Amino acid sequence: MKTGQVSHRIQTLFLSAQDVAVIVRRKGLEFCFSQLVDVMRADFLRWADFDKSARVARYSPNGVIELMPIADSKTYSFKYVNGHPLNTQLGLPTVMAFGVLADMNTGTLELISELTLTTALRTAAASALAARALARPDCRSMALIGNGAQSEFQALAFHYLLGIRELRLFDPDVEATRKLMRNLQAFDLGLTACDSVGEAVRGADIVTTITAHSGLAEVLDAEMLDAGMHINAVGGDSPGKTELDPSILRRGQVFVEYEPQTRAEGELQRQPGDFAVTELWRVLAGQAKGRVDAQQITIFDSVGFALEDYSALRLMRDLARELEVGQAIGIVPELADPKDLFGYLNLLNNEPQRAYIGPLCSQTEKEVCG
Ligand code: NAD
Repeated sequence: MKTGQVSHRIQTLFLSAQDVAVIVRRKGLEFCFSQLVDVMRADFLRWADFDKSARVARYSPNGVIELMPIADSKTYSFKYVNGHPLNTQLGLPTVMAFGVLADMNTGTLELISELTLTTALRTAAASALAARALARPDCRSMALIGNGAQSEFQALAFHYLLGIRELRLFDPDVEATRKLMRNLQAFDLGLTACDSVGEAVRGADIVTTITAHSGLAEVLDAEMLDAGMHINAVGGDSPGKTELDPSILRRGQVFVEYEPQTRAEGELQRQPGDFAVTELWRVLAGQAKGRVDAQQITIFDSVGFALEDYSALRLMRDLARELEVGQAIGIVPELADPKDLFGYLNLLNNEPQRAYIGPLCSQTEKEVCG
């Protein structure tokens, strides 16, 4: 390109939390869940196309911050996500996230999106995708253990996609259960608040554990289980953080997203290294058996895999374009000559530089730039 010509506009689509809420309201939650399951399933079925790795984590006494990269030949994606179970005491969510899509050929940033809401949507969709393959088709009731930020999403994904009509709820924080019941009162669901995990699990077809705490907890005991149950274990998702009595995994068949990651992070971390598990994509592809009979206990040991975020980010990007939601942002300088990055600084121009003055500008900065 000759100097002076206008370069390609390098614009990135930015989706805020409000944008994603608008997309969900305009398309409908049921539609979003069903689309998420469809795109995720299609992506799991092309498992071999992806360059996969376990996520990269940094731990602190209160939690974890993780980066979750994945790519196929066309698109690169990553998610930044934290897990800090004590955050709600500070008025902060336990899980907060954002993510990126980029073009593999050029590295151009296509999308930067919120992923806090989208993680809740995609986690519930992944749980439903697994349960559709693993739970008994006649399941109608679910125990929901842990009634925090993720819980409504799980409840409604199972309602819409598996026909769950009865929810049995437990959380030691009764306010969390009240919030969940308030949020779900408009839906066609029977809701029972229970006084213990045992009471919630009794008689349920599916048990979802989605609790947040530190340590190797055993929220669910093996003696609470009945033949034929499907366990959707979502909250045990990093080293040293579990929810299930380890003997539960020996009572049934265990299914995982990406085995190397789940061995370190899932309920599987408390089993020997050669404990047999099946990756979900193999069941979806017909290469491995899912549930074999109505009496079997099936366990989805979910930790959250980068492919689910790749699928969700692409769906949100497509829905945003269709609905014309979001903002184009200039995160990369637009250059007339792509080799003249320095010129973009415009240091020799005598005109006053326009500087951002916002809430984060200190008094000294205001004096300089104002
Ligand atoms: P949250 O803090 O909003 O809610 C967690 C709830 O668990 C709280 O209400 C808390 O009182 C409850 N709880 C704690 N101990 C309990 C127990 N023994 N029995 C019943 N309830 C108990 O957190 P959240 O955003 O809803 O996330 C829940 C968990 O799910 C976290 O551990 C998070 O890391 C995990 N998560 C996993 C995935 C995944 O893909 N597998 C995705 C998102 C979140």
